[in-house]
Amino acid sequence: MTDGRVLVLNSGSSSVKYQLVDPADRSRPAAGIVERIGERGSRLRHTTADGARRTREEPMPDHRAALKAMAAELAADGLGFDSPGLVAVGHRVVHGGRRFTEPTLVTPEVEAEIERLVPLAPLHNPANLTGIRTARTLNPNLPQVAVFDTAFHTTIPEAAARYAIDTGVADAHRIRRYGFHGTSHAHVSRACARLLGRDPSEVNVIVLHLGNGASASAVAGGRCVETSMGLTPLEGLVMGTRSGDVDPAVIFHLSRVAGMSVDAIDDLLNRRSGLIGLCGDNDMREIRRRIDEGGEDGERARLAFEVYVHRLRKYVGAYTAVLGRVDAIAFTAGVGENSAEVRAAVVAGMDEGLGPVVDPERNARREDGPRIISPEYARVAVAVVPTDEELEIAVQAHALVTG
Ligand code: AMP
Repeated sequence: MTDGRVLVLNSGSSSVKYQLVDPADRSRPAAGIVERIGERGSRLRHTTADGARRTREEPMPDHRAALKAMAAELAADGLGFDSPGLVAVGHRVVHGGRRFTEPTLVTPEVEAEIERLVPLAPLHNPANLTGIRTARTLNPNLPQVAVFDTAFHTTIPEAAARYAIDTGVADAHRIRRYGFHGTSHAHVSRACARLLGRDPSEVNVIVLHLGNGASASAVAGGRCVETSMGLTPLEGLVMGTRSGDVDPAVIFHLSRVAGMSVDAIDDLLNRRSGLIGLCGDNDMREIRRRIDEGGEDGERARLAFEVYVHRLRKYVGAYTAVLGRVDAIAFTAGVGENSAEVRAAVVAGMDEGLGPVVDPERNARREDGPRIISPEYARVAVAVVPTDEELEIAVQAHALVTG
């Protein structure tokens, strides 16, 4: 018997991903995605607990239509918005500013604050708010809980959070480093400590979240002290389509010399840079395949791989200095969990200096759960720790409403 399920919603501007999660046994009685909301060809793909798949293709002009379709799919299996086992809806909210340091029950005042943060996350927060408001109409009595992508990073010290720009300008416009992917960094740093058989409060971990978006964090005794994303998710590592760190003067140069508009530069750095900008592919599997095939095309892919890895190595070095002592490096998300080549290249040659080293056989083994891939003698453990943001959101929301 469940002691309460949480419906986790990740609402984007034209899509909603959902998972019904039972935190007690980590099971997913249902999951799915609604895509192309407000566009032609809207569709919902739903997966039930036993793996059966159902698809709906029908016009879904807005989020309300999308969530109603989702609710109908859930209700068909007795898991709808009115079912007694459902205790909360947990929403992924991208920007919580400095204010939201914890999962938060949504009240009108909280909603207004999320709205006030829209200028800092103009694409994400409005979609997240739409998700909250729409879910509420489906059952006004169900608690709505916001879990913020920025929350885990609110502990980073001022020296790491400040940009060295005029303080008056920075404060007037709330310009500082906030960091993102916090739910993943929190989950993975704790799971990594457990994997080492230690309490998170005793362990210093560098977490490398390498998905299509990518970020690093330095976590000291369970508290985040540094992270690579900044005011927006553009700063830091080389990503699938984002540049990560560039000299800010690149932007002036593109404006003055290339005559590009701010919107065009935004599009360039966020959607046409990173791996895709360097070699035309943002999927690491494809990049590795091209490298193996060789030739001129393979060389382009190799350079993209090397730029990607070089940036990661710089961050590992910097975060080792920030932490003073590193117990583990944890790789997670699509690339981090699956690419043995990236993991090996990131720590190559570091064993005598910084300490991390991978065991080639352990690194190459394909397993599902968290695992250590460094040899027994390593001073710094290297681990693969699958992320699970939905579970983390469900656990946090469940604790808040049943706590
Ligand atoms: P995510 O954003 O965490 O879903 O990660 C997506 C990215 O993971 C894809 O763009 C791929 O680059 C990468 N990825 C997924 N599977 C593999 C794999 N088997 N080997 C290497 N990279 C992978």
